[in-house]
Amino acid sequence: PTEGEVVLEVEAIRKEFGGLVAVNDIGFRVRAGEIVGLIGPNGAGKSTTFNLITGVLPATCGEVRFLGKRISGLSARAIARLGVGRSFQHVQLLPGMSVLENVALGAHLRSNVGVVAGALHSERAREAALLHEASRQLQRVGLGDYLHEQAGNLALGQQRILEIARALAADPVLLLLDEPAAGLRYKEKQELAAVLSQLRAEGMSILLVEHDMEFVMRITNHLVVMDFGTKLAEGPPVEIQSSPVVLEAYLGG
Ligand code: ADP
Ligand code: MG
Repeated sequence: PTEGEVVLEVEAIRKEFGGLVAVNDIGFRVRAGEIVGLIGPNGAGKSTTFNLITGVLPATCGEVRFLGKRISGLSARAIARLGVGRSFQHVQLLPGMSVLENVALGAHLRSNVGVVAGALHSERAREAALLHEASRQLQRVGLGDYLHEQAGNLALGQQRILEIARALAADPVLLLLDEPAAGLRYKEKQELAAVLSQLRAEGMSILLVEHDMEFVMRITNHLVVMDFGTKLAEGPPVEIQSSPVVLEAYLGG
């Protein structure tokens, strides 16, 4: 996609869990080369919104379009293959495996390797191609010195970046990151912000959920604010920061 083109369009999606409306007819867009923040208090419906976009949960109604094509109703695997990558709210690495192997596992889903590997007859050649792609993604995010380290031995900040590398190995157009900075030290947050800025500069589109407002203000182009499943506001971070409605949701209530 070219810069500014709409990559993700969420239109009036809704999710009910029994009587609870977790996501109440939410709509927003993400454009190419943009980092959009999805913010709101705990229980606002942010993770559920991610699950609806990525096909982990079926929406009660509404529609999600990715690169102009309807993806609602497709399986999580099919959506990932189309180019929607994600990380989860809690680290989901295989701690006993190497950094390189963790990323190689992400690479076989949908990859640059796919086309090449299809032409490679031997299992060994295919595996070598996967490892090569994994190594390339790890260099890209600054983890090139840790390829053979056990994932569980990395600092939390590095594990979060490793999860991003794993998602990148599937060659996504859009990345969804659920609280990537949670629990990180100040310096780790800065390193994460640098990685995300670099990805954006390379044309990646990113939708992220994050509570750390300083981090969000520094990194995002656009914010969508949710509370009790509803979209309260959206706009440029500087406007949102001083919006009475948003201050009320965070400080009032
Ligand atoms: P957030 O990520 O903004 O903190 P969630 O999307 O996780 O919020 O949750 C939104 C609401 O939906 C909460 O009230 C939560 O308890 C409820 N919820 C989330 N997932 C489920 C589920 N699988 N079954 C029932 N209720 C759920
Ligand atoms: Mg959440």
